[in-house]
Amino acid sequence: MKEVGDGIIRLTFALPLGIDHVHCYALRAASGAWTIVDTGLGVDDAGERWQTALQALDAPVERIVVTHFHPDHVGAASVLANLTGASVYQGTIDFAQCERAWGSGRSAERLAEHMRKHGLPAEETDALRMESDALASLVHYVPNPEPLEPGDRIDRWEVIHLPGHADGHLCLLHEGILIAGDALLAGISPNVGLYPEARPDPLGDYLDSLARIVELAPRIAYAGHRETIDDPPGRARELLAHHRERLEQTRAALRRAPRSAYDVSLGLFPEPLGPPLRRFALAESCAHLEYLALRNDISRLAADGVVTYANAL
Ligand SMILES: [Zn+2]
Repeated sequence: MKEVGDGIIRLTFALPLGIDHVHCYALRAASGAWTIVDTGLGVDDAGERWQTALQALDAPVERIVVTHFHPDHVGAASVLANLTGASVYQGTIDFAQCERAWGSGRSAERLAEHMRKHGLPAEETDALRMESDALASLVHYVPNPEPLEPGDRIDRWEVIHLPGHADGHLCLLHEGILIAGDALLAGISPNVGLYPEARPDPLGDYLDSLARIVELAPRIAYAGHRETIDDPPGRARELLAHHRERLEQTRAALRRAPRSAYDVSLGLFPEPLGPPLRRFALAESCAHLEYLALRNDISRLAADGVVTYANAL
């Protein structure tokens, strides 16, 4: 744990995922108690890890805020709530999606079908189902969080909706300090993927969120992974440029013939990737292709159950 700002403590937990750590934050509330933002993955020893972290804090935890429903952020929410007795606050859009993704109506099949429709080979959809079940066992969200809406206040922090990485992704802003979750990351581009039962244009959402960050112009951003961001508007502009370039490459990939999103993703992400990262690459390529298709820059064609995309001309 590290004091990264005035009344802001960063708590870092190891992750057994594609990324090896996640940062949660403790924010000093007006009462002197702490607000915790994000909870880490609900691994077997999440309780012990949090117990150690809580012992190092000099005051009780007053509330817990979840930025978004991904396993490394919401996973240990109920564990932490039980340890502290604090209420969990989660966005209403995000909580609805959290229940669809991890609740009793969860269906790895739906995700597998979505990926298959976009060209993922059949042998890889089996691995997807298994990994998705394994991941779900590490998610312990609370069933009845206090709802959060954009514009609400958490102590002195304003709740800001910055969708794209997740539909209901929330951040906290106060006097130029952004608690960013995964809406903005240093060194890596937050995954922006098209998923079933989610908003249809995640990249459009994300580009708007990046423009919003430029406009809000926070002076520092504390993110869910990697280093603190000293120039958030500058980083947002870099990511805007990155996605504009990616959109050009996506258009160019369709020059010769219609292609599935999976095919396109192999060209856009040529490095060797394990199955989970390959699926992130596919979901991200889908987001770029759909962004273009929704603006009639390219066309979406469905044949033999697999969606392909073609140049509009
Ligand atoms: Zn994350």
